[in-house]
Amino acid sequence: MTDTTANGRNARGEWRPEDRIALAPINYWPPRPGTVLRWFLGFPGYLWPYNAFWLVVTLVTWTWLTPDLAAMKSLELWWIALLLGRNLALTVLLFGGLHLYFYVFARQGEALRFTLKPLATDSRRFLFRNQVRDNVFRSLVCGVPVFTGYEVLTYWGFANGYLGYVDADAGPLLFWGWFVALLILAPVVHAVHFYFGHRLLHVRFLYRTVHSLHHRNVEVGPWSGLAMHPVEHIIYFSTVVVQWLLALHPVNALYQIQLAAFLPALSHSGFEKLKLGDHLAIDGGNHFHYLHHKYFECNYGGSLAPLDKLFGTFHDGSDEAQAAMHRRLRAIREAEA
Ligand SMILES: [Zn+2]
Ligand SMILES: [Zn+2]
Repeated sequence: MTDTTANGRNARGEWRPEDRIALAPINYWPPRPGTVLRWFLGFPGYLWPYNAFWLVVTLVTWTWLTPDLAAMKSLELWWIALLLGRNLALTVLLFGGLHLYFYVFARQGEALRFTLKPLATDSRRFLFRNQVRDNVFRSLVCGVPVFTGYEVLTYWGFANGYLGYVDADAGPLLFWGWFVALLILAPVVHAVHFYFGHRLLHVRFLYRTVHSLHHRNVEVGPWSGLAMHPVEHIIYFSTVVVQWLLALHPVNALYQIQLAAFLPALSHSGFEKLKLGDHLAIDGGNHFHYLHHKYFECNYGGSLAPLDKLFGTFHDGSDEAQAAMHRRLRAIREAEA
């Protein structure tokens, strides 16, 4: 975007951050322990405030908004309906809240927004000819029931002892150590699983029949995050299976599910950052994923894992990365011809 005007936007109204997208310091080679530690504990950093905020949401959900595990031993309508209602409410609160903040009350104006184009209305690409209504419908009618289904299976599995085997001799130190380690690793698990699931969805057949529906959202808003085909919902939320295999406690699985459910609200906001006052702005991986929606064939994962860089699909937002992407796609086309 070399034709930038004085206000930082080009003639098409596009804006991009000055800084290139960088991978998280855990991916640096050779390793830089000091940088990793500062990133891990700093503010804003890996733990504070974003991932820690979602952990608090998970702990509140588990403590006050989830029935006792013993009561969920058999699959009964009352507790499944309770979870579904609670998840619908949380989703409306978060996605709806961000949509109101950014697009209805425009509290940030156009500051840090990647484009000036409005979300689509009167467009045949979307149900009800309206992007926001389409996105809300797909999120609530399919997305929420799918991740609630994974949550139901999680509790039922733990309550019946099918999941979460605890070695009685392991002792509290090993239990709590493992428990905390899995909480800390959950965002990385999410990034790695998302990368591979997403690459799979870009295989031609699956892209055409399933994933293209999510990509109808070229411009994105918070509700675009979970606007997916039902098959994509099932693949996307299967990230919790990692916790089914590793976790000793259902809270680990709940955190993994909630990260998958809630992170897309901000990463699809269409804004680089959510500004909270003059000194704090939350970056939910927004520019990284925005470029995927814009160009399709880059940035399949996130900045927490080096997979895009490893497989040559990383786009850091610069003109050089743009040229490299075009060269890569041209080479693929020529090889296929
Ligand atoms: Zn997306
Ligand atoms: Zn995609």
